[in-house]
Amino acid sequence: MAKVCIICSKEVPRGHAVADDAVIRFIRRAKQSLNIAKNNELVVCEKDLDIHKGKRQGYERNLALYMVIAGIVLVLLVFLPIITSGFSAYAVAVGALFAALLVLMPVLTSHTPALASKTAGQKKTPAGKKTAGGKGKTEKK
Ligand SMILES: [Zn+2]
Repeated sequence: MAKVCIICSKEVPRGHAVADDAVIRFIRRAKQSLNIAKNNELVVCEKDLDIHKGKRQGYERNLALYMVIAGIVLVLLVFLPIITSGFSAYAVAVGALFAALLVLMPVLTSHTPALASKTAGQKKTPAGKKTAGGKGKTEKK
């Protein structure tokens, strides 16, 4: 499996692995169903680490911003009409579609996956706080 840098799009001998997120999984599945999957391992090469960091931060900012806008759109197009003029399936459909498109925008234009090492390093709840359930399986929060 070739390692391909997501910043410079070149094949690199080694790099920092990128975390599989929902967008990458979706793209991979879409490509597999179209039979054009290359099955490359996505990485960020050493010299592009800073560029990736900047892009990732910009993407997270974009996504947060568009989610807020989408929320406002939902309120204006869906909930407000329900209050003022009653429920309208058409307004709900248009509002939901518009909000979904708004959230898709930053994903399509500037999607930058996080590095795998960062998500793997996340610590879970301290071991001293065990729930009294006794099921032996800690629940995710
Ligand atoms: Zn690179």
